[in-house]
Amino acid sequence: MIVKVLASGSDGNCVYVGTETVGILIDIGLPKSKVEKILLAADIIPTRIDAVWLTHEHGDHCKGLPFADKYKIPVYASEGTLKQLDRLETGHAVGVEGWRGFDGFSRDFITVAPFRVSHDALEPYGYTVRGFDWKVSVLMDTGVVTDEMLRKMADSDVYVFECNHDVQILQDGPYDAFLKSRILSDNGHLSNDAAAAALSKLVKGRGEHIYLTHMSSTNNLPALAEATVKRALLQRKFIAGKHYTIEVV
Ligand SMILES: [Zn+2]
Ligand SMILES: [Zn+2]
Repeated sequence: MIVKVLASGSDGNCVYVGTETVGILIDIGLPKSKVEKILLAADIIPTRIDAVWLTHEHGDHCKGLPFADKYKIPVYASEGTLKQLDRLETGHAVGVEGWRGFDGFSRDFITVAPFRVSHDALEPYGYTVRGFDWKVSVLMDTGVVTDEMLRKMADSDVYVFECNHDVQILQDGPYDAFLKSRILSDNGHLSNDAAAAALSKLVKGRGEHIYLTHMSSTNNLPALAEATVKRALLQRKFIAGKHYTIEVV
């Protein structure tokens, strides 16, 4: 299994998960030409992408949809996300509940399963991607991590996790009161502390890899985010480099 966080942050998010035979992108939040560039820079040929999965309709997650159109790559997302993007006709709606059709998507030993997250979008999802003996969880924009989300992500080998802001830096920072309360709300973005608390429940110290992503350039510092997560995991006696690995992207 190969995981590459190709782009991260408010300028655009894009995560590649693949094997030797199958490759998918979760979110394409950059302009089409930039998606092509970052894929080629990562040695991924655009025509070998089998599907694109969108977490929600915000521009930093789906700006690059013309890339999918150009290469005729099928787009999967919740019904709500497709509706917001005016793509109910052309996209593939997936749901976490049976009435929408099916509980996941399988192809060549890869299974992608959505789960509900909490964000100010119509019907946002996180995704788990599973192969024969591996599991990757991708958690983008969410204000909170619920027990249900923890259950869906349990036992992953790789966690791609939003780690958006430090609460203190955000509160002391330049954003107006409305935007601050939006980010801090249950439908906002994940703080370093919230990401650390969730990861300390998920990581079991068996060599998991953590990517901390979607970091705010105004309201966070990469070193602080990493230190916050490491401290939470140390309380469980897990040491970076020994029990797990971590990367800020
Ligand atoms: Zn968003
Ligand atoms: Zn976002």
